[in-house]
Amino acid sequence: MKIKFWGTRGSVPTPGINTIEYGGNTPCVQITKDDGRYLIIDAGTGIRALGKEIVSNGVQNKINLIISHSHWDHIQGLPFFHPLYFENYDINVYSYAHQGIEGFEIFEAQWHPLFFPVKANVLKARIKYHAIDENNEYMIDGFKVATKKMNHSKGTLGFRIHGAKDIVYMTDNEIYFDADSPFSLQNILEKNKELIEFCKGCDYLIHDAMYTVKDNIEKIGWGHSNNISVLQFAELAEVKNLILFHYDPDYTDKDVDKLFNESKNYIQHLNFKINCIAGKEGQEIVIS
Ligand SMILES: [Zn+2]
Ligand SMILES: [Zn+2]
Repeated sequence: MKIKFWGTRGSVPTPGINTIEYGGNTPCVQITKDDGRYLIIDAGTGIRALGKEIVSNGVQNKINLIISHSHWDHIQGLPFFHPLYFENYDINVYSYAHQGIEGFEIFEAQWHPLFFPVKANVLKARIKYHAIDENNEYMIDGFKVATKKMNHSKGTLGFRIHGAKDIVYMTDNEIYFDADSPFSLQNILEKNKELIEFCKGCDYLIHDAMYTVKDNIEKIGWGHSNNISVLQFAELAEVKNLILFHYDPDYTDKDVDKLFNESKNYIQHLNFKINCIAGKEGQEIVIS
């Protein structure tokens, strides 16, 4: 099994010389089983390169895409996802069932002429939309996926993919903390019990680490987390590997390096057991 990161940036794509190391594309993660079946999580701009690879390799014609929520940075790559334009692909899209708004409306709205030059009727792939909900469990092409509501805009889901190794994907999510004592483990525990339980003992947690504590204090209620809260959260949930993700678009590679180094020092200082990894576009993690 492996995890590949096609986009790790939050909010908006950030190409340029200052984001080469961690990448500028918005969220897209691919989880592949040893037999070749794969699950794509989120359709940020990172999905464009993944789509080109799928079409050029031509191996797996069944595509499963689960969407955490419909904010632009999580769906904007979809019109540029190459397999949609070929008839030999079966594409299943799983997204939250908003009352009165169907998944296809959210996605196909992107092919409206005000946003995109070609109409949705040029899509040749067979696309099926599936409504999913919080606190549920789904079998998706051999992947057992549990869902949970995130602390973010309505309809944002986090996913726990159960298997020989469990992987949790939680972005965008605001870990609640007390701005007066941001380093209190007890506070994090009390304010985030249900989500800590959801992540309990997982092997990999991919989590929103958008800000430093300082920047987060100015943006409480925006639906994102700081690196220190995420470390505390992961330690309390007995996570084995924490992958920092969804970086602030204003952060350069040097800023993310600083965030990552601060995280590693904090782990060492407090004797935490988690292994911390900074998610990078193009990075592949092979899970034994
Ligand atoms: Zn986002
Ligand atoms: Zn969002």
